[in-house]
Amino acid sequence: MSNFVWCHGPSCHKSHTQDRIRGVKGSKVLRTRKVKQDQWNSGERYNMYSNFCSQGCYNDFANKHVREVIAIAPRTEALETPIEVVKEHARDWSGRDYMETKIITVDNNGG
Ligand SMILES: [Zn+2]
Repeated sequence: MSNFVWCHGPSCHKSHTQDRIRGVKGSKVLRTRKVKQDQWNSGERYNMYSNFCSQGCYNDFANKHVREVIAIAPRTEALETPIEVVKEHARDWSGRDYMETKIITVDNNGG
């Protein structure tokens, strides 16, 4: 008893790979891949690979449906992260002194 979903890639069934071939001589097809729902992509670990067999199939889906996907959570203004830029003396592998620029995130929610 295996738990799976079909890959959501719109062109998954068009990729020429041996593992997609089904049927007998004269009526063979390329079939959408199954995506196993195992401990690595279900429950707490549910992610994009729970629905896609590959990065390529995910990209095909995202490119085909990008307008709908963006409509879920449109970005209408820029987000900002408060930071401080600090210059510090540091030493390279040979012991030479140089100035290092560090970006430090400022937590405005803390006390
Ligand atoms: Zn696929």
